[in-house]
Amino acid sequence: MSDYKVFKKVLVIYTGGTIGMKPNDQGALDTVENALGVFLRTEPSLHVASLQVPAEENLFALPPVKGESGRVLYKLMEYDPLLDSSNMAGSDWKRIAEDIERMYDLFDGFVVLHGTDTLAYTASALSFMLDNLAKPVVVTGSQIPIYETRTDGRINLVSSLIIAGCYNIPEVCVVFANKLLRGNRTVKVNCNTLEAFDSPNAPLLGTFNNVININSSLIRPRPSGKLLTVGGVLEMNVATLKITPDMSLDLIESALAEPIKGVVLESYGSGNIPSNRKEIIDLLRNAVDRGVIIVNCTQCLSGSVASIYDAGAVLDDVGVLSGSDMTSVAAYTKLAYVLAFDVSNHHKKELMKYNLRGEITMADMNVNVL
Ligand code: ASP
Repeated sequence: MSDYKVFKKVLVIYTGGTIGMKPNDQGALDTVENALGVFLRTEPSLHVASLQVPAEENLFALPPVKGESGRVLYKLMEYDPLLDSSNMAGSDWKRIAEDIERMYDLFDGFVVLHGTDTLAYTASALSFMLDNLAKPVVVTGSQIPIYETRTDGRINLVSSLIIAGCYNIPEVCVVFANKLLRGNRTVKVNCNTLEAFDSPNAPLLGTFNNVININSSLIRPRPSGKLLTVGGVLEMNVATLKITPDMSLDLIESALAEPIKGVVLESYGSGNIPSNRKEIIDLLRNAVDRGVIIVNCTQCLSGSVASIYDAGAVLDDVGVLSGSDMTSVAAYTKLAYVLAFDVSNHHKKELMKYNLRGEITMADMNVNVL
């Protein structure tokens, strides 16, 4: 790469998703191996062929971007197998995090190409797993495959490469539909439009319009002098329990049963449950007493949990933690991360309440995580 010293270097980790899918024999969109790199090499908006970067190293050169002084050289790392993100699991988050750790010193930033269905889970999980992250990690994908004329994949990829290569944003973020979002605040809000993601409880980190506008005051500070460490161990015995009218006690009991260690309770409104059903409260209390960590998050798209009503305050009495304004997705992945720590249950609960990566507005400022 010696001829390309002036370029910013970005590693693109391609995990699968619509962005690289094509219709299979049944007409359903499916992943296709080794097609994206071939396409990128022939696509002038994504690669300058005349620069003759070594194809065998899977390197591509982004054309100059007006307004940006840096040039971006990127390397495509295609996963085998490529996955519809509905098939992704905690082991896939670990693989991505460990690849970023392995390649950390060689690149200025990282782009993760991902399906949209579980993109918010992966972005949230990576935000927790990558401790002391000092470089951008941008998760993106598309609603329309990149091979199609009307694709949103091309602009999402270009915007992500620019952020990963040219901006000092030391966080896991999501780029989608001209928005830059904090990864662990992101939720998929639409499966039919190109505006698939939003962060209803947190302002946008930036926007891509005529110019790229980054809200610098919101960007998390770069950790000084500390090395990246990857929390590769996760406790995946976590569950999400959505409260519904007349819900069965059996369902609640099984969601709280061994081997489950942590539960995201998706409650109504500002954190309420049917408090007139004493059996539900007893089941929750028993689980907390057994050491299960239960975090209360609202089912609403935005807003936060607070003990305003008796129907919610009852959860404080049994030891359920307030998830404040965390998304249920962030709470789920944070539980998977925190529950794997070799610390006391009390310490894990403090960590769940503490703002680790910008994922939560702390309800209780007296949280002690030391
Ligand atoms: N099912 C696809 C996936 O999550 C949807 C997408 O990428 O838009 O991989």
